[in-house]
Amino acid sequence: MNGSASSQETRFVHAGSDPRRQGGYVNPPVHRASTALYQDVAEMEASQADPLKTGTPVYGRFGTPTGRAFEEALSQLEGGHAAVATCSGLSAITTAILAYVRAGDHILVSDSVYLPTRKFCDSLAALGVESEYYRPDADGTTIEELIRPRTRLLYLESPGSTTFEVQDIPAITAVCRARGVATIADNTWATPVFCRPLELGPGVDVVVHSATKYLTGHADSLLGAIVCTEESYPVVRSAAIRLGQCASADDLYLGLRGLRTLPVRLGRHQEHGLELARWTAEQEGVAAVLNPGLPGDPGHDLWRRDFTGAPGLFGVELEPHFGKPAVDAMLSRLQLFGLGHSYGGYESLIVPTDPVSHRLPGTWAGRGPLVRVHVGFEDIGDLKKDLTAGFAALLSGT
Ligand SMILES: *Cc1c(COP(=O)(O)O)cnc(C)c1O
Repeated sequence: MNGSASSQETRFVHAGSDPRRQGGYVNPPVHRASTALYQDVAEMEASQADPLKTGTPVYGRFGTPTGRAFEEALSQLEGGHAAVATCSGLSAITTAILAYVRAGDHILVSDSVYLPTRKFCDSLAALGVESEYYRPDADGTTIEELIRPRTRLLYLESPGSTTFEVQDIPAITAVCRARGVATIADNTWATPVFCRPLELGPGVDVVVHSATKYLTGHADSLLGAIVCTEESYPVVRSAAIRLGQCASADDLYLGLRGLRTLPVRLGRHQEHGLELARWTAEQEGVAAVLNPGLPGDPGHDLWRRDFTGAPGLFGVELEPHFGKPAVDAMLSRLQLFGLGHSYGGYESLIVPTDPVSHRLPGTWAGRGPLVRVHVGFEDIGDLKKDLTAGFAALLSGT
């Protein structure tokens, strides 16, 4: 079912699903596979002549029915032409970038990107690719000024990891499209439930996901995905083939299963996330809550224009006089908010973050310590009680 006329929740339930392909069962099997057998030499030769390996099964690395089901569903939901699954979010990012860059190229990267993305972009210098970071509040004019004759690609994440700045994707993609610069957006925070960057203005050329987060949603799998337009798909898919990218059958299955309930889960993450964000903003010791879903946030207007929701992942900036011992005391006191990386699972998490160490000069210096909160499905009253104890430890820990 294509379902373009249906409402969003209906599309998430049925996108890419065809029970007749899988013996009538609602879900596809977990298809473990390396070897696929050809019927005859003619079929083998036909598959060798297919550079993107999207026809008959060739070899497990090029995809299985479980993977195709996940890729088709996500691609439809994101408004794309086709998708490529990879073994992690970071591998989706590195594959998408490597698909575009060549020695001598210059790329623009938003200063607010996920830190491992930044480290990868920095490492491209060894291949002769120069990465330049731009402030995430850059408008179309600023981006236009930054584009050089050798600028090949612009990579963005909106809102930014840990600091949550929202970018003007329609304006940025309009400039990049006109200047022949490809664009990639990391849409892990919003998921296609809350934002579809392929459809914002002229749209980005490629969307990348850490499906590890909300898409699978249960902290039990690592999975990445690259969603493409008709033009970007051959570029990305052939790079993924060259790089040997693939994902495990179990993780692909969990990704597809997670997609089916994504709008329901994100609805709850948003409801409790916004309530907890508002409550946190009123607590003693808090300088600011960084969540574009809150009125008054610097990114709120752009968020209202381009997003339909905000999941429960936000930043909390503490007052600048708190030192590391006080913040450590707060984090160690928490019982329900697990101290750990990642987000998007059913359980609440908190982690200290440090933009000052790597961001452009003048953007974060002088601001207070930052933590990132993921609001899971525990009772909201219990979560407030837990944080209240944490804030008490913060205030007495100075
Ligand atoms: C976690 C994350 C990634 C990396 O995903 P993995 O699946 O852990 O490799 C990339 N981008 C963003 C925004 C993330 O939060």
